[in-house]
Amino acid sequence: MIIIDGKKTSEEIQNEIAKEVEAIKASGGKVPHLAAILVGNDGGSETYVASKVKTCEKIGFGSSLFRYPDTITEAELLIKIDELNNDPVVDGFIIQLPLPKHISDQKVIERIAPKKDVDGFHPSNVGRMALNMPTYISATPYGILQLLERYKIETSGKHCVVIGRSNIVGSPMSILMARNAYPGNCTVTLTHSKTKNLQELCLQADIIIAALGKAEFLTADMVKQGAVVIDVGITRIKSDKTKSGWKLLGDVKFDEVAPKCAFITPVPGGVGPMTIASLLMNTLKASKGAVYK
Ligand code: NAD
Repeated sequence: MIIIDGKKTSEEIQNEIAKEVEAIKASGGKVPHLAAILVGNDGGSETYVASKVKTCEKIGFGSSLFRYPDTITEAELLIKIDELNNDPVVDGFIIQLPLPKHISDQKVIERIAPKKDVDGFHPSNVGRMALNMPTYISATPYGILQLLERYKIETSGKHCVVIGRSNIVGSPMSILMARNAYPGNCTVTLTHSKTKNLQELCLQADIIIAALGKAEFLTADMVKQGAVVIDVGITRIKSDKTKSGWKLLGDVKFDEVAPKCAFITPVPGGVGPMTIASLLMNTLKASKGAVYK
């Protein structure tokens, strides 16, 4: 059994990008620049955005952070988006979600110029993904593809069961794993809360991608010997054994499932750390004009 190390893989990718940025700087090319918009004072969102900006600085990208109080109107936010869409310094930008209730996430996402949508949430980029065209794949699915690729996990002809059909993880994952590409070429079963025979389906799976958000849901009696298990779930539960008073659990009952697996991602340290690497890869692609030529 091999435990897939997302933290190490993410650092490797960041180092590779840092080298590329050095080369770009040495040749006098344009330094990739990521901008982020943060609305309100949600502690979680602030931490995520701060860490994204810090990582940009570490690897040599330019970055800018625009902060607004949660009283900003939708119209004002759309004006800022238009400004970033037209700013030649900014290669890509993200808007930390969720937004306050009076602002429509969808309207905001659709206002981002697809060529600068490095989160990959714009309908144009989701459509391009479905058509297997060059695009920005959103952070979590892109991170999972990277892990499969870097651990050289065979996917062609395999049966992949995806648990959960959210727009940000399960649905795109099911499309990507079925694409005529590597990683991909799987026979995919997309399961969700209305699926009746989940255990039976999981027992047939060579690859299981669990993204339903229910702590330790996937147990050993649902997994066949030699399977590859990717655990996307993150549930925070109280713990008196950690300094913070919290611990993170995945959707997989790791201790009992891991011994049956060929490969498995842990939580924390599996899929989670890959999201930042994905965002940086997308920003690099944007600065090179690799998606929208
Ligand atoms: P979501 O809540 O939007 O969707 C959950 C999906 O699971 C739904 O499609 C639902 O139909 C399905 N589901 C619920 N109960 C089920 C059951 N009993 N059997 C089968 N399917 C069931 O979830 P999401 O936004 O995709 O997130 C899923 C989990 O992944 C959460 O724990 C979230 O915190 C985590 N997550 C982690 C990362 C990361 O970077 N590691 C990124 C995004 C989300």
